[in-house]
Amino acid sequence: MPIQSSGFGGGSGGNGNDKDPARIIGGGFQKQADGEEFSLRPQRLSEYIGQPKIKEMLGIMLAAARMRGEPLDHLLLHGPPGLGKTSLANVIAREMGAGMRATSGPAIEKPGDLVAILTNLEEGSVLFIDEIHRLNRVAEEFLYPAMEDYKMDIVLGSGASARTVTVPLPHFTLIGATTRPGLLSNPLRDRFGIAHYFEFYDTQDLTRIIVRSAELLGVGIDTEGAMTLARRSRGTPRIANRILKRARDYAQVRGDGNIDPEIANAALDMQGVDELGLDDFDRKFLRTLIEKFEGGPAGVETLAATLQEERDTIEDVYEPYLMLLGFLNRTPRGRVATRGAYEHLGVPYRPTKSDDPSLF
Ligand code: ADP
Repeated sequence: MPIQSSGFGGGSGGNGNDKDPARIIGGGFQKQADGEEFSLRPQRLSEYIGQPKIKEMLGIMLAAARMRGEPLDHLLLHGPPGLGKTSLANVIAREMGAGMRATSGPAIEKPGDLVAILTNLEEGSVLFIDEIHRLNRVAEEFLYPAMEDYKMDIVLGSGASARTVTVPLPHFTLIGATTRPGLLSNPLRDRFGIAHYFEFYDTQDLTRIIVRSAELLGVGIDTEGAMTLARRSRGTPRIANRILKRARDYAQVRGDGNIDPEIANAALDMQGVDELGLDDFDRKFLRTLIEKFEGGPAGVETLAATLQEERDTIEDVYEPYLMLLGFLNRTPRGRVATRGAYEHLGVPYRPTKSDDPSLF
């Protein structure tokens, strides 16, 4: 059975956007294979900033699992890209003193790929499957007994001579990451011992992440400068690191190499990132909704076609933050721009059909 090399870490995270590598948000969400992204990854739980609920729970689970000498229960991590799901999986493996094998749903094309991965795992190791909602159904069904009983039934031969052999597997911890928990089948979701939803980070935590990354990158930044970048990082550590690097470039060329609020603001203005962290595409999205569709409701497919962007990218990358800001509502009939969106763009507000159907 051919072993499919894991498609992870090579820029295959399907949520990014490769059309314009300079784009901070679209391009910034793409998983990077470059050494810098890896070097900025927290290594231990104590270096992992924010997400206090899961950290506390994990602290207890890790201690208990270590005492019992057992692997950790399977874990499902869900939330928008760039919020630290992969990083947390790395941290868990390290805290367990175990190895980690990383792959992604789309990289596992056939059950044989999964068999190869599972049978080659070491006892106690972590298997990380990114975009687990994109795992195909047949491969998924192989996972059920593997997760539950650490075994796999494989059919050898065909026709009358076919026989089933049960292959024992090493005890492992599956960590699944997804931006779309709703697309997971119930039996798969039920087999995870815990599920954790990643919230966007607040300015305080993002400031800490930026200060830590600046230290690792060897760039000077004052607290105000870090806070300025944090406020414009759309609640996302990956974006925070990205814009820190752009500010570092700017500081080197136009300043004395250190980042203060003035440098931070100038660098972000140049990138088209506004004071709330929205980029050109976010604004184009809202403007299209308001000007071409009278504020909505407009179907996501129609919007995606008009904007020439993939639907998945719009749903996973752009919309969650616009909804967090209260600029966008997802309704059963489509997307609707809120009064806040009109105000942010400086467009006079016109109520939409969904605000007051009697008006129309
Ligand atoms: P996801 O898997 O959710 O897309 P990642 O784990 O790849 O996100 O995180 C992207 C980057 O953001 C990482 O390389 C890391 O540097 C940084 N990061 C994410 N979460 C944290 C955190 N809690 N503390 C510090 N840095 C973080």
